Amino acid sequence: MFAHDNLFHAFLIKYAEIGIKGKNRYLFEDALIRQIRFALRDVEGDFRIRKESGRIYLESEIRFDFDEVIGHLQYVFGIAGICPMVQFDDNGFEDLKDRVVDYVRNVHPEGNFTFKVQTKRAKKSYPMDSNEINAALGEAILEAFPSLKVDVHNPDVFFYVEVRERINVYSRVIPGPGGMPVGTSGKAMLLLSGGIDSPVAGWMIAKRGVKIDAVYFHAPPYTSERAKEKVVDLARLVSRYAGPMDLHIINFTDIQLYIYDMCPHAELTIIMRRYMMRIAQTIAEENGALGLITGESIGQVASQTMQSLACTNEVCHMPVYRPVIGFDKQDIVDVAQKIDTFETSIQPFEDCCTIFVAKHPVTKPNLNIIRRSEEKLAEKIDAMVKEAIEGREIIRIGLE
Ligand code: ATP
Ligand code: MG
Repeated sequence: MFAHDNLFHAFLIKYAEIGIKGKNRYLFEDALIRQIRFALRDVEGDFRIRKESGRIYLESEIRFDFDEVIGHLQYVFGIAGICPMVQFDDNGFEDLKDRVVDYVRNVHPEGNFTFKVQTKRAKKSYPMDSNEINAALGEAILEAFPSLKVDVHNPDVFFYVEVRERINVYSRVIPGPGGMPVGTSGKAMLLLSGGIDSPVAGWMIAKRGVKIDAVYFHAPPYTSERAKEKVVDLARLVSRYAGPMDLHIINFTDIQLYIYDMCPHAELTIIMRRYMMRIAQTIAEENGALGLITGESIGQVASQTMQSLACTNEVCHMPVYRPVIGFDKQDIVDVAQKIDTFETSIQPFEDCCTIFVAKHPVTKPNLNIIRRSEEKLAEKIDAMVKEAIEGREIIRIGLE
């Protein structure tokens, strides 16, 4: 990324929204630090993460791979900007001046831009105040690089100088993903299929600080082991952002076959989806989740018309978050590409629904009719649901 990676030994992590949370701020900072640790768990370096007066610093004594660290930090929700810093001890102003000039030479060799020096003096015993430091450093930079110009209103580059116990210099701000640190907003249960939409939906809710677990309904032998592995892969990709999650895998075959035998085929998808929601909700409750998440989007398929959504929603008493509800498919694809789930999602393994999909599914289901059809399941369905839940497989994602 930069020609002079090995110049930097530390990062200043900037966060936006969490700055405004008043008393809860330390909770947000702690969650952010926890997520940074998680993101860096496999990266080489002896990383220390430090809170200091509303800022988070990441430092490593030993060399680290600059691009790798930046890449991993870009998975951490709550980070607004990542600033690679040069840090050195305070050895007097002459030394500071030399180091800042060196910094400009190394990091901004372009040689033709406007700048402004912005000093923050936290060490009050320093013999110059911040305005004096700004002026003197600006002058030194101009002297060393006559092609540069000062622009105090709208500079191309800000040179930030922080005078603390040590001195920090930085100028680049690499954007982070934004959002809020996972773990600051409770937990929700994601219905994760092998498609494009549900990983995006999970990512969007996690971005608001929500911890997620996931549930996948599979129907062996109608859906293959490969289809399940694909969902596990997707869960891993989402967990790079969302942190560790439990993936609950429900064997849905018997329930699907039973619905297939007992109910009109045109209603199969809707009734199946109602059982998915019921089961997901039960597992959510058992695990302290406060809502469900789906990748539904109005009108995308027969089971996502307003009428179908109303029917599916009717069995839920907890909130169902549908963050892509108003997205066009292309909007969802754009996010999927950005978060790197797209290539996995389009692998051609059948998902749970395709095998049982009717030729002409109802697009405007009537709730009373659906309820009446479900009555035909009364004899066995409760026991089957219970068995499916109790017999589920749980895969811990993100901690392997
Ligand atoms: P996706 O691209 O997310 O698979 P889709 O366009 O295939 O969505 P549907 O199959 O109607 O749409 O599913 C709508 C939503 O229901 C999905 O986004 C997902 O949240 C949930 N869902 C569907 N099938 C499953 C499944 N087998 N396991 C878990 N959740 C599922
Ligand atoms: Mg699907």
